[in-house]
Amino acid sequence: MTVELISVGTEILLGNIVNTNAAYLAEQCAGLGLACYFQTVVGDNGERLAAVLKCACERSDIVILSGGLGPTEDDLTKEVAAEVCGRKLVKSDMWTERIREFFTARNTTPTENNWKQALVPEGALVLDNLNGTAPGMIIEQENVKVILLPGPPNELIPLFEKDVRPYLEKLTPGVIYSQTVKICGVGESMAETKVKDLIDAQTNPTLATYAKTGEVHIRVTASAESAKEAKKLTKPVVKELKARFGEDIYTTEEDVTLEKAVEELLRSNKLTLTCAESCTGGLLSARLVNVPGSSEVFRSGLVTYSNKAKRRLLGVKKSTLQKHGAVSSRTAEEMAKGAALLSKCDVTVAVTGIAGPDGGTKEKPVGLVYIACNVKGKVTVKEYHFSGNRAKVRESSVAAALTLMRSCILKYISDVTFG
Ligand code: ATP
Repeated sequence: MTVELISVGTEILLGNIVNTNAAYLAEQCAGLGLACYFQTVVGDNGERLAAVLKCACERSDIVILSGGLGPTEDDLTKEVAAEVCGRKLVKSDMWTERIREFFTARNTTPTENNWKQALVPEGALVLDNLNGTAPGMIIEQENVKVILLPGPPNELIPLFEKDVRPYLEKLTPGVIYSQTVKICGVGESMAETKVKDLIDAQTNPTLATYAKTGEVHIRVTASAESAKEAKKLTKPVVKELKARFGEDIYTTEEDVTLEKAVEELLRSNKLTLTCAESCTGGLLSARLVNVPGSSEVFRSGLVTYSNKAKRRLLGVKKSTLQKHGAVSSRTAEEMAKGAALLSKCDVTVAVTGIAGPDGGTKEKPVGLVYIACNVKGKVTVKEYHFSGNRAKVRESSVAAALTLMRSCILKYISDVTFG
């Protein structure tokens, strides 16, 4: 079964906003085993939207449109979809009531054009949007299902989870089950090469790789008549991936992030953590704090951006800074050791690098980063060369720091266990 996505909005075309809805919907549909061959962005223009929608309805089984359901003149998606599907717009009593309730709860009065949002294509299924005044809609045509969703992600995502996903699950024959194998410390092309034969041979289950900053996720999706059967199909493939990637897999659980995996490792081994950051400026600490309950293991984060701060707070030697520079293996090592002395934590991690766009030299280019991890006095320092802009270098540094911490802690556990 095929699905096609149409994102409506001139601001997406102009690059004023990033099309995160398409990324989200595409990933969700892939997880449901739907094949997505086309995605289109079209501006707020009735004629062009109608042309795109007609074409999509002819070649796909499901078309999901997002955006353009608002109350203003340029919001045309519903009108165009009704016309293309040969339906009249009729008032939905249920949605008229919802608009009334929505505004009463906020102690404001709806404007005339808000009532436009109570009009729906005749016979459409109306999906209750709990976070806005435009309902989602599903128009069931003979050969195609046309699904309309509001543009704001905080409306689209809950509506997809609550109503659209169960609807799509019912449409797809059998049951879809997917499991994601999350890998850190391995580049995307290396990961793809390692599983190329599996991808080439895939039928059921299918394999898809997704590159994230510093991580690669491989989603294994199987379809079968029952959930039990689908799970059984994914099992040997996941087992094979575990054999190929070994310790580089940090989880196969959907809700476990890299920072969560690191914290679980710290927690289960009763280890505490402090970060000393330079070029990441607190980004690593912020990511660790993303995890609820992180205070159990994460004790402190120091942002030591200047040389003075590195010396005063972490005791980095003046001679080290003069001889090797702030971005050096020695400085990273002394930062991690200094953080351990100061915090008395079992694990300390230090990041120092050149995020750019300025500050790079031939010897020390933008993207050069040193990360040191100290586990109970044993320090490991690694040198990295990241590409991309300032934000990307900083994000890559954070992912690399989490990956290094994980491998150093695993090594420590193995040393303690096996001597
Ligand atoms: P509203 O009822 O708020 O007008 P709408 O369904 O008409 O919603 P749009 O007007 O197209 O949606 O977009 C509203 C906002 O939703 C945009 O300004 C943008 O912030 C966000 N948005 C829309 N489309 C996307 C998209 N494809 N990806 C990410 N964000 C989007």
